[in-house]
Amino acid sequence: MAQTKQRSHGYSRRDMLACLSLSMGAGLSVSPLVVFAQQLATQNNSGALPQLLEFQRLVAANRILANENVVDAFGHVSVRNPENPDRFILSRARSPALVEFDDLMEFDLEGSAIDPRGRTAYGERMIHAAVYAAREDVHSVVHHHSYAVLPFTITDVPMRPVIHTAAVIGAQIPVWDIHTESGDTDMLVRTMEQGRNLATTLANNTCLLMRGHGAVVVGTSIERAVLTAVYLQVNANVLLQAKTLGTPIPLSEAEIKLATESQFSTLALPRAWEYFCQRAGVEPI
Ligand SMILES: [Zn+2]
Repeated sequence: MAQTKQRSHGYSRRDMLACLSLSMGAGLSVSPLVVFAQQLATQNNSGALPQLLEFQRLVAANRILANENVVDAFGHVSVRNPENPDRFILSRARSPALVEFDDLMEFDLEGSAIDPRGRTAYGERMIHAAVYAAREDVHSVVHHHSYAVLPFTITDVPMRPVIHTAAVIGAQIPVWDIHTESGDTDMLVRTMEQGRNLATTLANNTCLLMRGHGAVVVGTSIERAVLTAVYLQVNANVLLQAKTLGTPIPLSEAEIKLATESQFSTLALPRAWEYFCQRAGVEPI
């Protein structure tokens, strides 16, 4: 939370209100979150602006992940509420490319919507709820079914970082199999019990692969979670190509540590975020 409030974005409250009014659209029904955000923005509350920016950043994250083909019609990204760590923000059930501000809903750490008002939530929101409950350090969660990553979920070929930009995916990437505890299912994480089991396998790692399904990526910020998800996919593509040529050389533990510091530095991270925002056609908030 402190990290969020320390950022300088150059956005004023007036900018944010204009942004909100644009995202609401004319004559459309207004979600409780938008009403809440408007109230915050119009109050003389210096803590409100970072929260509003975080919600807008979540919309940008949806667009980026869709633009980079990390998600397609399915997959989602969430953020822990900066003002209430026991809640998180996630879109209603909608393809990420189409997510707008007033699609955002708030959930508790059991995956229950605070004020659904008839909106349908993602069936796999329990992934987010369970990870936030298990990991106080996690501020953002991405779940995706990236086509490039899928082969590594169904073979014994381990996913390991092989390029410096992908060091952020971490040295250890466990593979979780829903069948182990739940038997035959539709492969989706639909209960908190399944979510908690997944979070236990994730442990303190950054990425987790899900057998025959996809992946979960976590971060201490939206930007870090999104960039890690993007570069998990890049790494998967490079690794697949490299294996057709010979035996790939993974980064060493020391290289992973040093390259992660470099990739998430105050210079590189905003540069990457701005780049991916521009590619997705969204304001680099
Ligand atoms: Zn899924």
